[in-house]
Amino acid sequence: MSIIKRLPDTLINQIAAGEVVQRPASVLKELLENAIDAEATEIQVRIQDAGKTLIQVQDNGKGMDPLDAKLCFERHATSKIHDIKDLFHIQTMGFRGEALASIASVAKVSLYTQPENQEIGTHIEIEASKFILSEPYLCKKGTLIQVKNLFFNVPARRKFLKSNPVEFKHLLNEFLHIALAHPDKIFQLYANDHLQFHLTPKSLKNRILDIFNAWNEENLLVVDEETPNLSIKGYVGSPEIASNARGEQYLFVNQRFIKSNFLNHAIFKCYEDLIPKDEFPFFVIFIQVHPSEIDINIHPTKTEIKFENENFVYSILHAAVRKALAKFHVQDIELDAFQQIINQQKKNLEGEITIKQYKEKKFEKNSNQDVFDLQKSLNALYQPISTKKQENLVLFTESATSPIWSAFQVYQQYIITNYQNKLWIFPQQNAHYRILFEQYLPKIKKGLHTQQLLYPERLHLTQPDVLIFQENTQIFEKLGFDFYLDENGVIIKGVPFELKIGNLNSFVVHLLDSLKFLDFYVQNYHEELVKTIIKPLAISKVQLLSQKEIYTMVEELFACENKFYDPFGNPIVKELKLEDLEKFF
Ligand code: ADP
Ligand code: MG
Repeated sequence: MSIIKRLPDTLINQIAAGEVVQRPASVLKELLENAIDAEATEIQVRIQDAGKTLIQVQDNGKGMDPLDAKLCFERHATSKIHDIKDLFHIQTMGFRGEALASIASVAKVSLYTQPENQEIGTHIEIEASKFILSEPYLCKKGTLIQVKNLFFNVPARRKFLKSNPVEFKHLLNEFLHIALAHPDKIFQLYANDHLQFHLTPKSLKNRILDIFNAWNEENLLVVDEETPNLSIKGYVGSPEIASNARGEQYLFVNQRFIKSNFLNHAIFKCYEDLIPKDEFPFFVIFIQVHPSEIDINIHPTKTEIKFENENFVYSILHAAVRKALAKFHVQDIELDAFQQIINQQKKNLEGEITIKQYKEKKFEKNSNQDVFDLQKSLNALYQPISTKKQENLVLFTESATSPIWSAFQVYQQYIITNYQNKLWIFPQQNAHYRILFEQYLPKIKKGLHTQQLLYPERLHLTQPDVLIFQENTQIFEKLGFDFYLDENGVIIKGVPFELKIGNLNSFVVHLLDSLKFLDFYVQNYHEELVKTIIKPLAISKVQLLSQKEIYTMVEELFACENKFYDPFGNPIVKELKLEDLEKFF
């Protein structure tokens, strides 16, 4: 007897949905792409409950006639390709004809649509691939789709959705990708009935400034490179607006947002000497190639792409961004002023200024010095001083019973000590992570206290960051922040008493960036939160420490419950045994 059965269509669609529809944001992406393909000029998005209850997209595009309105929910039904040749000349965002079928198999979907030249439109209700209703309906020209209760019939998948802030951040990203790729169109985004974005048709530059409203024109450097087969256009951020946020890199190929570590690297490399290692440049770059030069049909979500000649694209992209940065530099380096600062710093060296303080200073607005070179010179200037200090140190005591111990810093990044009569060496930053982690974890579990600021401080945040802040107010409260929100953003009235925050603004930006990876419901939520917080609070990897700081650090590290690993799993303390030393000589 045959045991093989053909699967029912609903099940086939649900299996396919596993690939296309991972979360509310994937639904939004597909709906927005359909609106773009329908040549809409005005697109409105409404989200309820981070998309878990409702994702709605309304467009003023072509619309569908009654037959198409039904067909669009069929698997492999598409108006965008007709034969295999078309697959190599894709001009539209969609082409696989499976998004709506997949979505309708795992949600309750309402569709209202009407083409321009028709008197009446169509209203369809479909639930878990079953048509519930189909009726003539007077609509506006265009299409309105509502996707309700995503995964209502697949509880296992609904359970795996992340907290609302995390899902919302993903939704926001999809919205921004499309809004950046189509600055000539109108976009609105409502979240829980609040208007979050209203973007009017603009140049790309102004679209970027409308979205990332904390920046100004001088922060955007033009990229513009044209070869016979390839065009690269867009903007890269000046080094000052680099941040440790990883979400602000937007790369598009033929208007489609794509993820490519390889191509990102071509851009990152241009900034290597301009920004600190743990920061990332901002960019919005559009690569345009002939559709036959790329394959976008690698994955159903279409965020990966294969180029005919990837190395060629890499080198042109690299050259284009270098050129943009070079232009910026010629304008900005004033060597005389630079020399003056160096001289000033030489004088200050006997004083208190540390590299870290200097680093903070460098990002002060309007400072147009060549920061990196300055940093290098300063490092060089510090070198002799630390060596001198070390010469003055009393080194290890010889008596095995003596309670006296000593410690010193080498290369401004490692600490060597004979604490407890053994010889240890550890990297200062990782050790500091461990110390801060163990100090803050119990405190943060309880909730931190607030220290009121003398003057409330308005944060310098981009609009997406303000939204993420709004979604995560509980976390900021728990951390002891006192704040309020107004139509322009966030004002901080009090800061966490227990945390020594250097630069309030960059601390908050760092936290907001990390929050998209954090989930309220994960079991080790507090641990993850503390790991996030200590990164900007710890001392630098390379930084001159005072003798007192070195001693305190050794004592605190050896008081830690787990002194051998930092919270990120890197080993931190190495004991140098007698055998080790004997091996050396
Ligand atoms: P694809 O976009 O890959 O063709 P979809 O399942 O996303 O597949 O959509 C199926 C078809 O439904 C599209 O080819 C298009 O003809 C039609 N369609 C979907 N959304 C819209 C819309 N917003 N306006 C007009 N037609 C649409
Ligand atoms: Mg589509």
